[in-house]
Amino acid sequence: MKEHRFTKEFFDFLSSSPTPFHAVSCMTDRFKKHGFQRLSEQETWKLKKGNRYFVVRDDGAIMAFCLNSDLEMNEGFRILGAHTDSPCLKIKPLPDINTLKYRQLGVEIYGGALLNPWFDRDLSIAGRVCCRMEDGALKIYLANFQRPILSIPSLAIHFDREANKNRSVNAQQHLTPLFSQTINDLFPDFKTILKEQIEDEHRITDIAEVLGFDMFCYDTQPPELLGLKNEFISASRLDNLLSCFIGVVAMVEAKPSGNCILICNNHEEIGSTSATGALGSLPSAFIERIVPDVLARRICLSRSFFISMDNAHAIHPNYMDKSDSNHQILLNRGPVIKINANQRYASDSFSNALFQILAKEIDIETQEFVMRNDMACGSTIGPLIASQLGIRTVDVGAPTLAMHSIRELTGSRDPYLLYQTVKHFLCRDHLPGDEGQ
Ligand code: ZN
Repeated sequence: MKEHRFTKEFFDFLSSSPTPFHAVSCMTDRFKKHGFQRLSEQETWKLKKGNRYFVVRDDGAIMAFCLNSDLEMNEGFRILGAHTDSPCLKIKPLPDINTLKYRQLGVEIYGGALLNPWFDRDLSIAGRVCCRMEDGALKIYLANFQRPILSIPSLAIHFDREANKNRSVNAQQHLTPLFSQTINDLFPDFKTILKEQIEDEHRITDIAEVLGFDMFCYDTQPPELLGLKNEFISASRLDNLLSCFIGVVAMVEAKPSGNCILICNNHEEIGSTSATGALGSLPSAFIERIVPDVLARRICLSRSFFISMDNAHAIHPNYMDKSDSNHQILLNRGPVIKINANQRYASDSFSNALFQILAKEIDIETQEFVMRNDMACGSTIGPLIASQLGIRTVDVGAPTLAMHSIRELTGSRDPYLLYQTVKHFLCRDHLPGDEGQ
């Protein structure tokens, strides 16, 4: 795919994916369009060489794979990984709050969100809703209000003259979005509003009641190219829908001769301990079903390689002292290999070297990131999947500023450079380092 079209489709993907459920739904559509067959975990899989498949777990995680060579040959997998979730505000189960005839919605903080940027944005709500139908069935629907319906107004500076020096956010008190202004007490509760939204969105009329939901707030401002010469991309959820998109496009576009897998887990931002998180059974359970024989699977995994993709911190020109002076990551200068002595990132010298060779072969530069010693290092799904599967892994990502803000910034070339590198990884005949094995 050419760069211009890639960026346009990336923006469409970001706009259509306000939640992990919507992201997985978009990925599902793309896989189906390109001939991937959907599998169900509840059925036996009859896999055939030459076919491409995908499987979804609990609406928020997806794994896709292409079987191009005989599994009996114990050939390894080329594996790509990313996560579908982003830090944000999640609607509480009983969210309705009435204050001075204003209707507000109670929210929880999902993941390590930077809270200040959530003020004064035009927010909407999207997510997954579980309904009891009139015939007694339990059904799940995706919902997306699309238009701006929420705002968290800042406190005016006149009430807080110290605001620019030391304003802090009390997440329980200050972050409750404004939702409506009620004229009378008959204003419907949030579940009733959700029911109407789903009936409208899905053109149905047989919902008895809404019983549960995973609904998230999101910024309605669309992604933009930004900068005098369009040097940057400004958007929500770049961490880590950028990597999900790269993974999907690489999987559908690449024509690999070997077997390859894409794993997109949910719940990375909240620690990965869930049925759809990278600490859950998803990666190992699915690979067990592709290669059921234990010994064959062990050999296969020992010959496999995993590129874990998650955004990397670029150096901030206004906060230069926050970065290690020898590892100053810049936007538009190539994919970042993330390294940490304590294995918060799974990269080691071998996987780092292998990734560099792949990039060099297609004339793409790479950069190496380490966190300063006096700051805590983040982590990714890399070490979790590497340790579970016992597989050689490199942690890489597109350089990003304002990570975990409601609006993040990356270089306009960065998604495409990483895409080209991982596509080359899927297609290259033998991986460097395999020669002597
Ligand atoms: Zn991330």
